[in-house]
Amino acid sequence: MKRIRCPKCDESILFDETQYEPGRVLVFECPECHKQFKIRIPQPKPAATTEDEDDTEQTPVLGKLVVLENAFHFKQEIPLYPGENVVGRLVKGSNANAAIKTVDPSMDTTHCIITAKLLPNGTPRFTLRDAPSNTGTFLQNEILGDRDRVIISDGDIITIGATTMILRTNDDED
Ligand SMILES: [Zn+2]
Repeated sequence: MKRIRCPKCDESILFDETQYEPGRVLVFECPECHKQFKIRIPQPKPAATTEDEDDTEQTPVLGKLVVLENAFHFKQEIPLYPGENVVGRLVKGSNANAAIKTVDPSMDTTHCIITAKLLPNGTPRFTLRDAPSNTGTFLQNEILGDRDRVIISDGDIITIGATTMILRTNDDED
């Protein structure tokens, strides 16, 4: 069974989603306020292939964020992949694909975004911007403006909330 909530009055409604085809749109009427609303039955996750994972298809890790230990969390390393890495406090159903395990209340669940790209010469490039967040994103203690898109490199120090992170790129490894 699946539980959904009326978008108007928040009444919870149970239904048996296995009765309907994936991708199908259903119309509900809230028993409480009679608001009509639609939901789409989610598509099942694609089944894992039985073949061995093709290594050439793996997304390369271009760098990592080293999150320094503090009162809210232990040290951890967050891998950075090509594309947008959304950094924020890990919560259930998080939208952050580079989430940090922390109880730091001043870190938003989507706090800043690091865009990683592999340049034609094989070196990764990282661009930092604020998500936007409530408490701001700091690069070397300077707060980013709303429209700032700054290139960051190995060793740069990023602070979000009470949390300090260091960028480590794959440039000089091995
Ligand atoms: Zn309702």
